[in-house]
Amino acid sequence: MDLSNENIIHVKNKNIEYLQFKKLLQYPEIKYAYVIGLDKNFKISLEPKNDEEKIKNNLSKKSYKEICDELNIKYKNIVNTDQSHTDNIQIIKNKINNDKPDFNLYKNTDGLITNKKNIILSTINADCILLVFYDPIKKVIANVHSGWRGTIKRISVKTIEKMKEEYNCNPQDIICCMSPSIRKCHFEVDNDVYQIFKNEYKDLKNFDELAIKNNDKWNIDTIEINRTILKNAGLKKENIIDSGICSVCNKNLIHSYRGMGEEAGRATQIISLI
Ligand SMILES: [Zn+2]
Repeated sequence: MDLSNENIIHVKNKNIEYLQFKKLLQYPEIKYAYVIGLDKNFKISLEPKNDEEKIKNNLSKKSYKEICDELNIKYKNIVNTDQSHTDNIQIIKNKINNDKPDFNLYKNTDGLITNKKNIILSTINADCILLVFYDPIKKVIANVHSGWRGTIKRISVKTIEKMKEEYNCNPQDIICCMSPSIRKCHFEVDNDVYQIFKNEYKDLKNFDELAIKNNDKWNIDTIEINRTILKNAGLKKENIIDSGICSVCNKNLIHSYRGMGEEAGRATQIISLI
């Protein structure tokens, strides 16, 4: 199967498959990939408690090494966070470890921003949205995890605010790309979650189009919610680029928690300035 579409190129090499945004390929100063295929990647445990966690760590490290080799960037330059559904975003000015990745050194954090070359910002998902941002004028990148809780907390817009604050970025210049994730076709929630969305987003003009009642459940379009609030934050319509790919519909190729349950691995998204 080929997931290429108007915004995405699906690369299939010997040992690795990944997606790239056509828009980001216009900028040779950045490297980007969203790794697909069901090779196992997981959240790294810094202190693995048992053999199973050690095996998961090794598989994850192997998967990170493979994509870094493929893109010709250095594994030891990876930085990630513990991704705990917060709206906390960290500015990365330096690597902490010199000779190995900074795995999970940022706690209670779901977003990373840098303007430094050769720092690989990394996130993982299984249905949550991963957002990458690039300001080609100020040369600033960000990599952000926004599950439904992050979407409620507006972490996408908080990233833009932080890029403005720290690097004087102009929202009109910022590009945002949205990874494969669970989409409105599969993001079905009960009334309690619907009410949380309604309370936060009732002022959006198009809210009633973004949350559709389906018997006693609701299908919510978190991609369009993010697109709308990013436009309201000043991003240009043509700079908000969606992969258009549902992880649950494509669970044979993309890790999906709703599709696979506890057995699901995680897909990896990396971006680096070079
Ligand atoms: Zn779907």
